[in-house]
Amino acid sequence: MDPGGTFIDYYTRVFHINNETINIWSHLLGFIYFTYQQYYTNCVVLPSIGSHPADHIVFTLSIFGMQICMFLSASYHTFGCSSIVMRQKWLKMDVFGISAGLLGMYLNGIYTAFFCFQINDTNGCGMGENCCKVKKSSSLSDDATPGYTGGERKRKLQLSSLSDCAPYDATQEIIFPPELKHKNFDSLSFAYDHHHTKWYQPVDYDDLLTLKRELPHARLISGNSELAIELKFRFIDLPVLINPKQVKELYVKRVEENGVYMGTGMSLTDMDRYVVKLMNELTVEQVKVLQNIHEMLHWFAGTHVRNVASVSGNIATASPISDLNPIWMAANAQVVLDSADRGERRCCIDENFFLGYRKTCIRSDEVIKAVVVPLTTKNEHFAAYKQAQRREDDIAIVTGAFFVKINPDTFIVEKIRIAFGGMAPTTKLTLTTMSKLEGQFWSQGFLDQALSLLSEEMKLPAGVPGGMSQYRLSLALSFFFKFFLKVSKDLNFMEVQNVEQNLTIGNTIPKSLNATQVYQEVNDKQKYDDPVGRPLKHVSGDKHTTGEAVYCDDINVADCLHIAFVTSPIAHGTLNSIDYTAALHLNGVIGYIDAYDVYTGAQIGHHNDTPVFVKDEITFHGQPIAAIVATDHEIARKAASLVKLDTAAKKPIVTIKQALEADSFIFKHFVIHSSLNDNETVVKNDWSKYERVVEGSIDMGGQEHFYLETQQCIVIPHEDDELEIIISNQCVNDVHIEVAKCLGIAQHKISTTVKRIGGGFGGKESTGAILAVPASLAARKFNKPMKLKLERFDDMAITGTRHPFTLQYKLAVDENGKFIDLDYTAISNSGHTMDLSMGVMQRAMVHADNVYKFGNADITGKMCKTHLASNTAFRGFGGPQGMFGTEIMVKHVAEQFNWDHDEIREKNFYQEGDCTPFGMHLNQCNVTRTWKECKTNSDYCKRLEEVKKFNSENKFRKRGIYLTPTRFGIGFGLKQLNQAGALVLVYTDGSVLVSHGGMEMGQGLHTKILQIAARCLEIPIEKVHIRDTATDKVPNSSATAASVGSDLNGLAVQDACRQILERLEPFKKENPEGGWLEWVNSAYVNRVSLSASGFGIIHHEPVDFFNGKGAELFGYSVYGTAACEVEVDCLTGDHHLLRTDIVMDVGESLNPAIDIGQIEGAFIQGYGLFTMEEIKIRPDGIRLTRGPGTYKIPSADDVPKNFNVSLLGNSSNKMGIFSSKAIGEPPLFLGSCAFFAIREAVRAYRVQNGKKEYFVFNSPSTPERIRMACEDFVTQHVPALPEEGSYTPWTASV
Ligand SMILES: Cc1cc2nc3c(=O)[nH]c(=O)nc-3n(C[C@H](O)[C@H](O)[C@H](O)COP(=O)(O)OP(=O)(O)OC[C@H]3O[C@@H](n4cnc5c(N)ncnc54)[C@H](O)[C@@H]3O)c2cc1C
Repeated sequence: MDPGGTFIDYYTRVFHINNETINIWSHLLGFIYFTYQQYYTNCVVLPSIGSHPADHIVFTLSIFGMQICMFLSASYHTFGCSSIVMRQKWLKMDVFGISAGLLGMYLNGIYTAFFCFQINDTNGCGMGENCCKVKKSSSLSDDATPGYTGGERKRKLQLSSLSDCAPYDATQEIIFPPELKHKNFDSLSFAYDHHHTKWYQPVDYDDLLTLKRELPHARLISGNSELAIELKFRFIDLPVLINPKQVKELYVKRVEENGVYMGTGMSLTDMDRYVVKLMNELTVEQVKVLQNIHEMLHWFAGTHVRNVASVSGNIATASPISDLNPIWMAANAQVVLDSADRGERRCCIDENFFLGYRKTCIRSDEVIKAVVVPLTTKNEHFAAYKQAQRREDDIAIVTGAFFVKINPDTFIVEKIRIAFGGMAPTTKLTLTTMSKLEGQFWSQGFLDQALSLLSEEMKLPAGVPGGMSQYRLSLALSFFFKFFLKVSKDLNFMEVQNVEQNLTIGNTIPKSLNATQVYQEVNDKQKYDDPVGRPLKHVSGDKHTTGEAVYCDDINVADCLHIAFVTSPIAHGTLNSIDYTAALHLNGVIGYIDAYDVYTGAQIGHHNDTPVFVKDEITFHGQPIAAIVATDHEIARKAASLVKLDTAAKKPIVTIKQALEADSFIFKHFVIHSSLNDNETVVKNDWSKYERVVEGSIDMGGQEHFYLETQQCIVIPHEDDELEIIISNQCVNDVHIEVAKCLGIAQHKISTTVKRIGGGFGGKESTGAILAVPASLAARKFNKPMKLKLERFDDMAITGTRHPFTLQYKLAVDENGKFIDLDYTAISNSGHTMDLSMGVMQRAMVHADNVYKFGNADITGKMCKTHLASNTAFRGFGGPQGMFGTEIMVKHVAEQFNWDHDEIREKNFYQEGDCTPFGMHLNQCNVTRTWKECKTNSDYCKRLEEVKKFNSENKFRKRGIYLTPTRFGIGFGLKQLNQAGALVLVYTDGSVLVSHGGMEMGQGLHTKILQIAARCLEIPIEKVHIRDTATDKVPNSSATAASVGSDLNGLAVQDACRQILERLEPFKKENPEGGWLEWVNSAYVNRVSLSASGFGIIHHEPVDFFNGKGAELFGYSVYGTAACEVEVDCLTGDHHLLRTDIVMDVGESLNPAIDIGQIEGAFIQGYGLFTMEEIKIRPDGIRLTRGPGTYKIPSADDVPKNFNVSLLGNSSNKMGIFSSKAIGEPPLFLGSCAFFAIREAVRAYRVQNGKKEYFVFNSPSTPERIRMACEDFVTQHVPALPEEGSYTPWTASV
């Protein structure tokens, strides 16, 4: 099936059906199509699918786990008029969506997401009471005419509004494509045989049972959400499949004497609908279990999974972290099993049902027919709770379900059932606790006894699989406590402490998103067709949303072969031998390449330290050892899994701590001494003289890039050793250089091209050669085009992450809180090679001051060499890590000396002209302006008081509000990189083609460049076009990184345009009334060149990091401040981000829509970094987080529902093109504001519990960290961990 043709044709037809809804639907359909493409390129499809008419009924479509995130290039404006590409995160799984209504059902989810992002026009303005809509006289306006500030530039409040869109109309739901329904196969019985797979689709129930009897090892394929994972990741053989979806007996639902009978063929969505129906029809007392099923389903996977996944699949899978199984167990539900030979039996879902890890007592010839859930009675109570790493679309860490029957007269517990998921290899019924609690009196003592019993029965060993032993037990206990209070409240049993407490967080959060985007309109005098400064939509926005935007994987090259890596199963050791035999026997395998195909000594990386393939020594888990070449991507993958490796493991160095102990560094240490700015030698102060000193250390975790498009490339060999490389990468030049180097060919024989990339975030800055070199070697060896695309699973293992850091500090302050002296050491976990670790460390060091003036500062940087994939660039490039340590230090000072942290900050803010420790003088230093404006916009002082009041009234829910400032220096750390080239070609029809060295990765660079070119040439923007970035158009270009894409490339384009204008000048003079076209043609006729190459540089002065002497490193800095308010559930560690306000200084914005999109996206990405995203690596270096199932980035639900971004007015920048400032990286650190707000809430809980002293709270603030920092009577029941070294923890703190 051609993913492009079928779908786009179909959607195009739909567009024509209804032009009215095209606005919304074109986005939504594009969304699906795009997702489909993304999915399709990453899935395994059963051999039977793809070339047969049955394709049309067994319609493969899986858009699972669509998680809409506002990231780097993200903005919800995608859905509005100003479209900026949105960074979407999709789980890519191989799932058969067989349901005929599937497509329509998917739309429900997408539509929900769509409305998550809608802007409410009537309220929620970040200006609060000062909103112009409240105060009609305000100077702010949301329409174009009134509202001047400063008499020149108007302030606008919103970039776009959805109010013009047609409202949702259910009749316009897309139907399942009729042409995909072939001969009514969807309702017929049939068997289908293709290659080694047999597919049965019975319609008759008896046929189903007979098939299961005759084929006991056949798997039933219901929603395929579980099987697909086994297929994709474990390459399981599925020779026989039975699809029971057409058997109507599996859909029976009724209320019967024993409870509610629900056919397990129903999807979870259908089951939920039935449950809701019953909740409306039955009495409140009867539906207590049903209500909890309904509530649990809301947090069960995402809409897309629920739309296909079945209850039977969930029960049969017997996952220990199933969300429903604890409910079935606690509710004493039964499962109805049926077989051809023995007939129907009913089986309790209890301790005898789940026999072991993913094992049940269901026999091989049995089918799960239904589940029967008892209805509750008046004296019965039920509740279920789930806690996951992320609230939405995530599997549970622990799920608890509780049932109790209490005698209303005696308050004696007659029956209690407690079940937990996530606490053992199976869903667990707490039999001992239950038996001891039955017959007891419901009282405060009952709670204490229950907590003690549960903590004993559910105790987990310190190194338990899955880790988090203490947290998981705390959750189990906290859930019981919540249940206890809930039942006490229902019983009106007021003798119990805290019974009045409301334990549910997020109650006050509005459903819709309230957002404002405040920016200044261009000056009235600006020419109407001069696009600079206007909020133009992303030039590819429509194509992104309709799916027409072409990415690397969309390019099909004739005769292309495919490559898949064979990777290392260990982190450190020796490779003894490789056996390719089994792989080479697989049909479709062409051959392999490995270290013996690489020239001796050829290594990749700026420092020539990264082997293309392992030859002898393995240095990280996932390291490429060889690559299989095959006719198809999936065959290559499967063959790679069949290669046998003989390895000998050695003990790896995984953590910073281990590296420090082993003196394992990648390079010598760097230093900065601020005293060298004024002195010849380093001044060392006597620290014993300082009266107030704080000293501490904090850890900050890494971050996976999780770009939407995984890394991929195509290499096409041509004559004379020429290679054409098409790649998804941020640096065509590095790819170019590395391939030339490793293949021993001149650079002029290679052209490297990028059309656009689906997100990079730094992850595609230096890693392109890891793919391009092997693909080029293979293209050479087999003389065929090669495609190499990494599965997410491999991408996350191979390509490195943001560097984890440990930040050590010693700070002296005077009696007024002024920072006198700083000793700061930043230590990074660099992984196995240098990659960009040097630059990352240097940037961390020059941001260690953040926005504060220190009397003296000595800053050291150490880069640890470990057995991990080489950590690499990531938006912020070390800056956020450097600033994080500093902000923690400020907090430490404030808490240790009982000072107001905001006052401390204000006292130490940089002032105009101040010099940083690394020798840069700050001009146009806008930190105080952004701080003050953010404080005002967010109504910080008033809300701080409200937070204090809330905290005094709520014992287990706490709020925190915080302000965080940032400064970010603009420019590459390496001088030579601060240059760019451009090529501008003018054609005789007046159209202009611009090429430059920057990559479009959704951040809007090409849009800004078009604006710049249009202004420079004084022509409408429509006349200018950009095709792609290529090394044969602009040579030696730097990576699109360091936020300087538009600064650098914009200058180069400006230079080229200037040359062309100069050449046109005589013709303009000659014919002043003529227009662009005439002048261009006159130039042509007079044999004047209409092409020009431009060049641009930006300021840089190198700092001497070996001796510590500073310099005017950057041309300028970008400033910003964020205010965040959060609410924390101290019993579970869950939190909600209630509101965020940001004021950002972008100078005179080139494009406010794109800049605000960048700010929103960067904030959310930073929020993920500091609160949620956790890379998990085992102590032996095995990477656990290798996909969206285990690694969680923020979802739509995590975006603050009140989100206000304001661009600082009246700011300019003489160092930036057209007075603008760079924006890609600077706002990312503001995401830490949410972390600090969470820490404030945790602190409030700790203070309430008598713990007033400063506490170490590492980043990210995961639910586990939050809960374990909230020490209380529950955590007292949790045994301490054994001494370090006496056990192997599940994960290492890298
Ligand atoms: C992205 C994602 C998120 C998820 N999130 C959650 C979550 O939050 N909470 C949670 O609990 N689970 C979660 N899951 C797991 C998921 O819910 C289960 O995998 C799903 O319920 C399985 O149902 P299915 O119909 O897709 O099963 P399938 O994949 O079709 O089948 C799974 C197994 O069940 C067997 N089977 C199917 N039907 C029958 C039957 N009638 N009789 C006997 N055996 C049968 C099959 O033979 C197979 O072995 C998630 C899964 C995904 C992919």
